[in-house]
Amino acid sequence: MAAAMTVIVGAGQAGAHAAVAARQAGLAGRLVLVGNEPHLPYERPPLSKAVLTEAAEPEPSWFFPAARYAELDIDILPGTAAVGIDMAAARVALADGRHLPFDRLLLATGGRARALEVPGGERALTLRTLDDARALRARLGPGVRVVCVGAGVIGLEVAAAAHARGATVTVLEAAPAALGRCTTPAMAEWIVGLHRAAGTTLHFGTAVAAITPEAVHGADGLRVPADLVVAGIGMQRNAEIAAAAGIAVDNGILVDACGATGRAGVFAAGDVAAFRHPGYGRILRLESWRHAQDHGIAVGRAMAGQAAPYDAIPWLWTDQLGRTIQIAGLPAEATRSVLRGTPDHGSFCAFHLDAAGRVVAATGVDAPREVRTAMALIRAATPVDPARLADPAVKLQALARPP
Ligand SMILES: Cc1cc2nc3c(=O)[nH]c(=O)nc-3n(C[C@H](O)[C@H](O)[C@H](O)COP(=O)(O)OP(=O)(O)OC[C@H]3O[C@@H](n4cnc5c(N)ncnc54)[C@H](O)[C@@H]3O)c2cc1C
Repeated sequence: MAAAMTVIVGAGQAGAHAAVAARQAGLAGRLVLVGNEPHLPYERPPLSKAVLTEAAEPEPSWFFPAARYAELDIDILPGTAAVGIDMAAARVALADGRHLPFDRLLLATGGRARALEVPGGERALTLRTLDDARALRARLGPGVRVVCVGAGVIGLEVAAAAHARGATVTVLEAAPAALGRCTTPAMAEWIVGLHRAAGTTLHFGTAVAAITPEAVHGADGLRVPADLVVAGIGMQRNAEIAAAAGIAVDNGILVDACGATGRAGVFAAGDVAAFRHPGYGRILRLESWRHAQDHGIAVGRAMAGQAAPYDAIPWLWTDQLGRTIQIAGLPAEATRSVLRGTPDHGSFCAFHLDAAGRVVAATGVDAPREVRTAMALIRAATPVDPARLADPAVKLQALARPP
C-alpha cells in the first residue's frame, strides 16, 4: 500500500506551523506544503512595521529555516498555486498542470488584501505580502503625501510607519470610527488621538469615491492631494477553491473545534477558517498572528490523530507610534469598560465587561501583564468587582484566582 499523502495548501503561518506540528505529532507518509508565494513561510507583522520603517530592510522573519522542513521531511513547493480540488478523485490540481493526490488535505489559504473598487482604485497599493511591503517601503520618504484608506489595524500601522518615514499622512475611513472590528469606540478614539498628536489628519465618515493621479476624492466632496495611496480595507478570504469543491464556506471555510470540515480528511486552519469555538459555543473567524500559529498547530496535530478542541482566547497586538496595544477577547460583547491606570501616563488597560459584570475583553497599552490576567478572567467568565479591577492597590492576580 502506498504511504498516506498529506497536502497542505497555503504556506503561510498556519500552514507552516501545521506541517511542523503534524510531523512532531507523528504524522507519517508524504507531506507536501504548497504555497503560491515565492518565499519560504514568513511572518507578516513586520511588514507593516520594521520592514517599512527601518533604515536597512530587515531580513524576512522566517518561521523555520529551510533545513527544518528538510529534517522533518516536509516537501515545500513555493511559487505553486493550487487551482482546484477534485474531491471525487481526492486530488489537488496545481497551476502548472500537476496533480497531488491526498489522503488528508489542509486548507490554510489565508486571505489577500481587498482591492479598492472605485475608479482609479488600482492606483492604491495594498499590503499583505513581503513583496507588497517592499514596494511600499520603496515609495515612502520625507515629504511624500500619503493617504491611507481605512483606519483598521493595517491602515493605522501604515499611517504610523509613513509618519516615521517623514511622510505627510492622511487617513480616510468610511465608518464613523477607527478599528471598528477590534476594540471599543473609546479605545479606538484614544488610539486615533495618538495619530492626531503626531500630526496625522484623520477623516471619518468619508468613503473614497475615486483616485486620480493627483488626489483621493471622497464621496462627500473631500479632495486630498496624494503622491501615494495605500488601501488597508480588510482581507478577502482565499476560500474560492474550497467553495468550488463543495466544501462548506460561510465567512470562511467552516470547520469544527478540531479543524475538520464536513468532508472526510479535509481540514482548514488560520485566517481562512471559520471554526466552532467550544468556549464561546459559536463560530468565530480570527485574523491574528497568535491564532494563525496556534490554530495551525492544533489542526496539524489533529491531522496526525491527536485531535483536541481548540479554545484559545482571541488575542492580537499592534504597534503604533511607539505604543504596543494588545487586545484580548471579543470587545464587541462588552457593555462598559473599567480603566486600570491612566491613559495619559504610561501603561494602562481597559477591561471590557458584559452586562453580567464578566470581563469579556481587554485593550492594554504597553500593559502585557494586565492583558495576560485579563485573558484568565475572560476564561474564568465569573463576574468581577469593577472597583477592585480599577484599583491599582488590588493585585490583579487575586481577581483572576477562583474564590
Ligand atoms: C501587514 C500585516 C501585518 C500584520 N500584523 C499583525 C500584528 O501586528 N499582530 C497580529 O496579531 N496579527 C497581525 N497580522 C495578521 C497575521 O499576520 C495573520 O493573521 C496571519 O498571517 C494569518 O496566517 P494564515 O497562515 O492563516 O494566512 P496567510 O498569512 O494569508 O497565509 C496563507 C498563504 O496561502 C497562500 N495561498 C492562498 N491560496 C493559495 C493557493 N490556492 N495555492 C497556494 N497557496 C495559496 C497565500 O498566498 C499565503 O501565502 C498582520 C497581517 C498583515 C498582512
